[in-house]
Amino acid sequence: MKSLPIFFTMFITSIAVIGCAQNAKEAEMEDFITAHVEKIQPIAKEANLASWNAAISGKSEDYDKVSKLTLEIRQIYSNPQDFIFLKEMKESGRVKNPVLARQLDLLYNAYLENQIEPGLLKEIVDLGTEIEKNFSTFRGTIEGKKVTDNEIKEILKIETNSDKRKQAWLASKQVGTAVADDIIRLVKLRNKAARNLGFDNFHTLSLTTVEQDVKELDRIFEELYELTNEPFAKLKTELDRILAAKYDMAVKDLMPWHYHDPFFQETPMVYALDLDIYYEDKDIKKLATKFYYGIGLPVDSILANSDLYEREGKNPHAFCTDIDREGDVRILCNLKNNETWMETILHESGHAIYDKYHDPQLPYLLREPAHIFTTEAIAMFFGRLSRNPVWMQQMLELSEQQRAEIEKVSGKYAQLKQLIFARWAMVMYDFEKQLYATPDQNLNRLWWQTVEKYQFVNKPQGRNQPDWAAKIHFAIAPCYYHNYMLGELLASQLHHHIVHKILKLESDENVSYVGQKQAGDFLAKNVLEAGALYHWNEMIERATDEPLTPKYFVTEFVK
Ligand SMILES: [Zn+2]
Repeated sequence: MKSLPIFFTMFITSIAVIGCAQNAKEAEMEDFITAHVEKIQPIAKEANLASWNAAISGKSEDYDKVSKLTLEIRQIYSNPQDFIFLKEMKESGRVKNPVLARQLDLLYNAYLENQIEPGLLKEIVDLGTEIEKNFSTFRGTIEGKKVTDNEIKEILKIETNSDKRKQAWLASKQVGTAVADDIIRLVKLRNKAARNLGFDNFHTLSLTTVEQDVKELDRIFEELYELTNEPFAKLKTELDRILAAKYDMAVKDLMPWHYHDPFFQETPMVYALDLDIYYEDKDIKKLATKFYYGIGLPVDSILANSDLYEREGKNPHAFCTDIDREGDVRILCNLKNNETWMETILHESGHAIYDKYHDPQLPYLLREPAHIFTTEAIAMFFGRLSRNPVWMQQMLELSEQQRAEIEKVSGKYAQLKQLIFARWAMVMYDFEKQLYATPDQNLNRLWWQTVEKYQFVNKPQGRNQPDWAAKIHFAIAPCYYHNYMLGELLASQLHHHIVHKILKLESDENVSYVGQKQAGDFLAKNVLEAGALYHWNEMIERATDEPLTPKYFVTEFVK
């Protein structure tokens, strides 16, 4: 995970605007940027530090400081005069210098999403907080007894009795009924704000401010749908056969509660694969350091600055943060020597090198990844290696036989994991788009139509409950989920390009990237150094000779 860019840390110390013959508009733009950066730079750094301190201390005074600074930053970006200035600048078409124009675009978008009328914004924030609170305090019940999310998850993972599974699944959906009306209210408030800004709904506004086009995303998701339809059907038939045998029932009677999590977004554990045994006597911090050093993108200084091990009061998850855009990049982990944390440290270090190795000549406003999903892609690209049998053999010094053992199931598992996630991401993208387009339609029915279309999961007969509302993302991370999928697509596209065009190999069969400086160099020059200098799709096209496409994800995981 990447800490979300709440702060939009936009600042500048040296303006590297190239070229001469600057027109008056460009000069004005430059002055605006200088003044803006002078204001935002110190607060952004302070806010990032406060947020870091809060995550490692867990103290409420640190969290209070974060809220205060976040609000200050929001106030800067909600200034209506500044927004009018940027809007006129954009519409004038006179800012032609590409580096300046790029900064104008990013600034315009950052201001645009903050131009919601203060009263309405307060309503939106308050209702969002209320829903989030309900999510975190609500407990579903099984036979009148309260159960936690973890207890529900555990039952869905191991229970073989269908009726008990059903009870657990139903309990996981109860929160949906409790929050659905509020979510619909929130959707309508968000739509109202978007319409005030001239957009047809909030979904379109959200995508526009992060430079994503609904039509283009539709095209990508449609293609992914077509390309995965058959292979997913095949894999799922096989999976269903295994599950039905386990529960001693007919395949046609399988219900949503027979998968291993409430939404069938994760891989049911049917292909046994315990990779932890290979990692338990290793030092995964050392492994990550050694690997990144070997590809010419060292992370020593990043890890030295980081907070890597469990401690009382510390945030139990993992993230990466760029404190100042001048090289102070840190990751937070809670490392244990197992496969999950190996993946995590590789993943977070992937975010970290993207932040660290931008071209220092770039203006500060452009010293960030091209998009939130492109940094996710780099993180995923490296995170995937913890389960790669060749990587494991080389890094962990395994025997041929051990490698063969891992290979037997790892490919199958990766395929299943990626296809299940892809089909689930399609549900999220499609449903959310329609939720904002027509919030008054029969959403309960729409949800099951969408689930049946993409996931091939049966709707329980007569079911008419807001099962969709049990997914917290609609409330607290709106119009964001699709980025996880785009990250996977780009990770595969980069992998394909490096294997075939950079390493000039026929296939990726024995590719582990261990010691492959060429791969590191390619990523540094074409992705990391560019920062946000180009629109994400231009960056991708420059790097791989074509815009973002689902083709290579399919080649990699559908065999
Ligand atoms: Zn991430």
